[in-house]
Amino acid sequence: MMDNCLSSIELIELRQGGGSLASRDHARVCRRCSALLGAVTPRVLERQTALFASLREDTQPIQRLIENKMAAEKAVSKSRSEVPPVRSRTRTRTILLGQYLGEALGKEEWDLGSLAEQAQVPTSLLSAFCNDVFDLTHRSDTEAVAKVLTALADDPEEIARGPLWESLLRTPGGMIEATGTTEMVAGSSFAGVSEASRESDLFRDQVEIDESETARKQAAELYLADVLAAL
Ligand SMILES: [Zn+2]
Repeated sequence: MMDNCLSSIELIELRQGGGSLASRDHARVCRRCSALLGAVTPRVLERQTALFASLREDTQPIQRLIENKMAAEKAVSKSRSEVPPVRSRTRTRTILLGQYLGEALGKEEWDLGSLAEQAQVPTSLLSAFCNDVFDLTHRSDTEAVAKVLTALADDPEEIARGPLWESLLRTPGGMIEATGTTEMVAGSSFAGVSEASRESDLFRDQVEIDESETARKQAAELYLADVLAAL
């Protein structure tokens, strides 16, 4: 211990950034006083603990906010990468006739040529069916569809009422409109309207098709009925 060690008051002054030059010089060289200066008293420790506790209390809501946000972001990125495939796997699968035929032709026993030959339909027509192309409006291909289903399926009616029906509901076309033809011909009979023009008007009117949802469904029902009758 050195002779002129610092008093408690001098130590406090130094701690608070004050004190004389002499006491500062002393504290720099005296181990005891420098140790006392650096020592943390129980009261200081208590104050520090209280300060940290209050800081934690103040920042806790923010911390929680950050954690929640991070958890939410993690959940979102998880849902982006994982949920869609799961959803698509569990979704009820609607099979169209094109898909059904595609799967059948993917098996060893059939290819487009051999199935067309077996069903006795043109390959081009079978190819159209594979692409879900049907003559919904004029029903010129219902017999061919029936032949293909008969050649391929154990229960052709089941395939007709299932995949074929789903395909027909998605096929463009509709009901042929029979109205207006007579008026059009009469109207076109006026002088100055050429025969060709009158014919084209008549023709255009004849192939006018009602493609409303109701008409398309009606056409699909007639088409299916034709196929079922031909099985
Ligand atoms: Zn000292």
